[in-house]
Amino acid sequence: MSERRVGIYPGTFDPITNGHLDIIRRGAGLVDHLVVAVASNLGKGPLFSVQERCDMVAEACAGDPGIGAGKVSVKPFGTLLMSFAKDNGATVILRGLRAVSDFEYEFQMAGMNARIEPDVETVFLMAAERQQFISSRFVKEIARLGGDVSGFVPAVINARLTAKLAETQ
Ligand code: ADP
Repeated sequence: MSERRVGIYPGTFDPITNGHLDIIRRGAGLVDHLVVAVASNLGKGPLFSVQERCDMVAEACAGDPGIGAGKVSVKPFGTLLMSFAKDNGATVILRGLRAVSDFEYEFQMAGMNARIEPDVETVFLMAAERQQFISSRFVKEIARLGGDVSGFVPAVINARLTAKLAETQ
């Protein structure tokens, strides 16, 4: 019998966007189980706490008909990604690639991770054409300036973003 293949999709998800969701949907189809790993990443000064970001990923996945129930789980992490992968029995790291600008960073990270843990393979999925330009950073900037981000994030996330900005501004 072949082994159960577990994948990890790590990121900050501050907040989760339609671009992330597309990668989750497509990535989940490539593995038996996908763990969305939400990095505490305090260095990046996230708008949402790690718990809030985990809750939002779970909510967005639950509301997506393309993501099978039980196929995806969400966990926070603050350790070395490769240790987290090992602890979760994962053999695949999933990342999304948008423009050329993502490439350099992703290339370096995949290379370093491969040196740390050669048995774990990093797999890249190209961003879908419609989601190419979506980034959490710009979603936050647009929302902060009163712009409409409903085309970039699920409705539940849009509502959370509006509430959070009202609370912090
Ligand atoms: P990080 O802090 O690791 O950059 P992000 O939450 O920004 O975390 O992104 C996590 C992963 O999702 C990265 O591989 C990133 O390239 C990918 N990603 C982000 N936005 C999109 C998008 N619109 N389409 C496809 N992949 C994306």
